[in-house]
Amino acid sequence: MKRIAIIGGGISGLAAAFTLEEQRCAGAPVEYVLFESSPRFGGVIATEHVENCLVEAGPDSFLTEKPWAAELCRKLGLGDQLLGSNDAQRKTYILVNNKLVAIPDGLMFMVPTRFMPTLLSPLFSFRTKLQMAREWFHTSNQSAADETVASFVERHYGTEMVERLADPLLSGIYGGDASQLSMHAVLPRFLEMESKHGSLGRATMAARNKTAPNSSRPLFTSLKDGMQLMVDTLVTRLSPSALHPNRPVRSMGPQEGGWLISARDESYRFDAVIVATPAYIAATLLQDASHDLASELRAIPYTSSVTVTLAYDQNVRAMLPPGFGFLVPRTEGKRLLAATFVHNKFSHRAPADRALIRCFLGGSRDQQILQSSDEEILRIVREEFKQILGLAAEPIFTRVYKWNAAMAQYTLGHLQRLERIQQFSRGLPALAVAGNGYSGIGVPDCVRSGVDAATALTGNYSRNHQ
Ligand SMILES: Cc1cc2nc3c(=O)[nH]c(=O)nc-3n(C[C@H](O)[C@H](O)[C@H](O)COP(=O)(O)OP(=O)(O)OC[C@H]3O[C@@H](n4cnc5c(N)ncnc54)[C@H](O)[C@@H]3O)c2cc1C
Repeated sequence: MKRIAIIGGGISGLAAAFTLEEQRCAGAPVEYVLFESSPRFGGVIATEHVENCLVEAGPDSFLTEKPWAAELCRKLGLGDQLLGSNDAQRKTYILVNNKLVAIPDGLMFMVPTRFMPTLLSPLFSFRTKLQMAREWFHTSNQSAADETVASFVERHYGTEMVERLADPLLSGIYGGDASQLSMHAVLPRFLEMESKHGSLGRATMAARNKTAPNSSRPLFTSLKDGMQLMVDTLVTRLSPSALHPNRPVRSMGPQEGGWLISARDESYRFDAVIVATPAYIAATLLQDASHDLASELRAIPYTSSVTVTLAYDQNVRAMLPPGFGFLVPRTEGKRLLAATFVHNKFSHRAPADRALIRCFLGGSRDQQILQSSDEEILRIVREEFKQILGLAAEPIFTRVYKWNAAMAQYTLGHLQRLERIQQFSRGLPALAVAGNGYSGIGVPDCVRSGVDAATALTGNYSRNHQ
């Protein structure tokens, strides 16, 4: 019987545990124990139901084009819970000189695919529009060296595109900074487009002509009853005796071809371990086992963020602009990074007579916000709502959630660092890492990382025995 420990009960650790449970049920000689330091499972995934509104404290959805989270939901019998974003209402604004300006139709991340909306949009200056036209004649870059997202976007479309679009998108979604993030790790698809076609505009057109339009697929997917349903359902599918909440792992070390793990006052021996904590915690746990591995893990930076949800009455709902919400470039000098009009983005989130706005603050731009009290954060948000939306009304309720060092940042050289992590892990007894520090920060990537970690340690038992 192979005994496997999983350290960390966020979605990555839960997905690993579920994979092992599936293998166990299929007859594989495997046993697992899931250690979680907090009293609850799910990590940053948490949903609250407040006055008929559904409030997501952490992630509110996932990208539909990454299939692994939806696949897991279907396996869990939650297929009928999957809920697409209301893309007919999709419109996102960028704050420019304290005014909300809509991102023009047909802009795919930063690549214009429709001529007229971009040409007429006040979001970009004439100079940037000219650069977009010139981009059509961009030639391939043969350099294999990593570069930052800011440098790549600047090479194609100039600095205004970085300031007004690329950086706000990355900071509004990941709490990141375009001048730090690695193109190879964060947007590899654009590099492929560049190496094949030179111009991103021409590459997008070529891809469009090849693939049949799939307009029915929403950009984002969530669960009708909230993201936490995924966690709660996973927990019910795992063997109860394998679940150890409130059990922080304090140390781990190689012992006789396996691992000795200490959690609370007890020590346990395992044949293999999956470390599904943030990378800096994995570094601390593995410090004694491999100094080299620990220093690579520690070098993956994390940023902290705050989400704030405010509910308002129907008058506010009527006065808010249509669309999914807005992003705030750093040049605007605000502390808000982004705000989502939740009542528009997804059905089943707020009754028809409520507006629900979720804000995102912190990230690499503003780590100190985490030191502020909830009252101070709410004061900042409401003041900036006044300036941006002219919204001074009293909210019906508010929620503030602080996430300390929860978002990994894939900085320059991240992929090389992953190779070194793999290389140093090979010198140790069976070990796999999973989580948002490595090959994708979103929920689907984390699910995939957990499944891959479990499969790497056991082989794909269920598939081989079907
Ligand atoms: C505010 C916010 C919004 C986000 N929005 C989205 C979104 O909309 N869509 C999307 O796809 N992604 C989003 N993400 C990213 C995504 O949610 C996360 O990357 C993912 O959920 C991380 O899962 P994880 O299991 O790797 O890590 P975590 O959720 O951080 O879980 C790690 C777990 O390890 C436990 N742990 C730590 N130390 C120990 C120890 N010593 N022993 C035992 N257990 C330990 C922790 O308690 C925790 O439960 C968001 C993230 C944040 C923070």
